[in-house]
Amino acid sequence: MSQLIDGKQISKQIKDELKDEVARLAAMGKHACLAVVQVGNDPASSVYVNNKKKACAYIGIESRSYELPEETTEEELTALVEKLNRDEGVNGILVQLPLPSHIDEDRIIRTISPDKDVDGFHPVSVGRLWIGEKGFLSCTPAGIIQLLKRSGISIEGKECVIIGRSNIVGKPMAALLLRENGTVTIAHSRTKNLQEITRRADILIVAIGKRQFITADYVREGAVVIDVGMHRDENNHLCGDVDFADVEPHTSAITPVPGGVGPMTIAMLMNNCVETIRTQEERA
Ligand code: NAP
Repeated sequence: MSQLIDGKQISKQIKDELKDEVARLAAMGKHACLAVVQVGNDPASSVYVNNKKKACAYIGIESRSYELPEETTEEELTALVEKLNRDEGVNGILVQLPLPSHIDEDRIIRTISPDKDVDGFHPVSVGRLWIGEKGFLSCTPAGIIQLLKRSGISIEGKECVIIGRSNIVGKPMAALLLRENGTVTIAHSRTKNLQEITRRADILIVAIGKRQFITADYVREGAVVIDVGMHRDENNHLCGDVDFADVEPHTSAITPVPGGVGPMTIAMLMNNCVETIRTQEERA
């Protein structure tokens, strides 16, 4: 029988561990403060921002909200980020993406100080990840590593296949699996014979952005399948990139959608916020 990897329960466990750690650090006079910046009022972004603020409150991290109008210019947003970089009371800066199309996202990501880059998107954080230096990890892939480890699934020596090469999921996922001594293959839209490649996987990570694309034909018997995708089906129910009903019987473990990878992203963001105070502790 396949093991259902419970992201809700594992993320709760991580948040509770972080809550204890934050209380311990607070007793030593060390506090974390996350600045959350949102431009415009895209409803999906507002839900994400609120969930992040709620997670901060649960763990005991102060969050400061900056809600800017849609017509905010790139220069105005850059000036705010630079001000937050200089503010010693702010440990982490999160600019909710996507930004309105008149703002260059890459420029804003590069403006955030790498020391406050809790999303792990700054090129310095990405570089540190690839050369094996300590730094902020991209939250969704870091959450997947925790899902695997805390479910007792070892990565070392395993054939790991990732479908998708985005900067926020596929590429950092590859670096993290490599760090855990997996043997890593990245597939993408130009990959030939995709099924042949995915059927080699002991661990198959699917971040393709296409609703229920992966069927049992893509999966080796007994593989572990991690579904990063997030979509609505014809009945408006959440579903993933994997056709769960078709694939699950052939797996040894699988993440559901919802309740798999999704809840882990915020838990790992909280971990990055706590990391900013752990670092203070090390420097002290
Ligand atoms: P993305 O930037 O759209 O990247 C999708 C990747 O899939 C691309 O690398 C693309 O290849 C590849 N791809 C597309 N069609 C393919 C095909 N037919 N065969 C093989 N590869 C194909 O997406 P993303 O940002 O990585 O996100 C992926 C999914 O995860 C989305 O559903 C997103 O909503 C979800 N997501 C969830 C979370 C969470 O917290 N749960 C976080 C982030 C993302 P090319 O590079 O060649 O175009």
